[in-house]
Amino acid sequence: MEYYSNEISKLIEEFSALPGIGAKTAQRLAFYVINMPQEQVEGLASAIINAKNNVRYCKCCYTLTDQEVCPICRDSARDHKTIMVVENTRDLVAYEKTGKYEGVYHVLHGAISPMLGIGPNDIKLKELMVRLQEEPVEEVIIATNSSLEGETTAMYISKLIKPAGIKTTRIASGVPVGGDLEYIDEVTLLRALEGRTLL
Ligand code: ZN
Repeated sequence: MEYYSNEISKLIEEFSALPGIGAKTAQRLAFYVINMPQEQVEGLASAIINAKNNVRYCKCCYTLTDQEVCPICRDSARDHKTIMVVENTRDLVAYEKTGKYEGVYHVLHGAISPMLGIGPNDIKLKELMVRLQEEPVEEVIIATNSSLEGETTAMYISKLIKPAGIKTTRIASGVPVGGDLEYIDEVTLLRALEGRTLL
């Protein structure tokens, strides 16, 4: 039996497909949206569509941006000879919030996971290798998560880079195992960065 009109059911269904949204929350959001002023609903809908249409990968570091080259890569005051490799843009933001990291980044958009069938070619690793060939990089800081996937990825990258003679470091394991970088406070992040070790 259908309790709601098709449109409401459809909206609830769309909300439930989002991460962390259960059936009850999806219902609550759907009714909330329906009761919102028309203007606000249109603002929300167009923010979603504009973000989807205009956000792309920075052609240099592959972070999500709405420009061809992101503001960090364009900033000549930053140290372009130090590249920090992170799993996603949220991790990059976490490090940026510390305000203490002066290098640039490379965003992998994932981590190697044999269990989930995610291999080296499924993340932006080739792109990193191309960068290392084209730019005079002095240090690569591997800041993938300390989860099994993050560690596997770190090992894989260090094996790839070492023959090129580029200094490769790994952030300290002060970061809780399996902890998503974005949930870690700034002090812990800085400590992990400062305590990085040579691979
Ligand atoms: Zn960039």
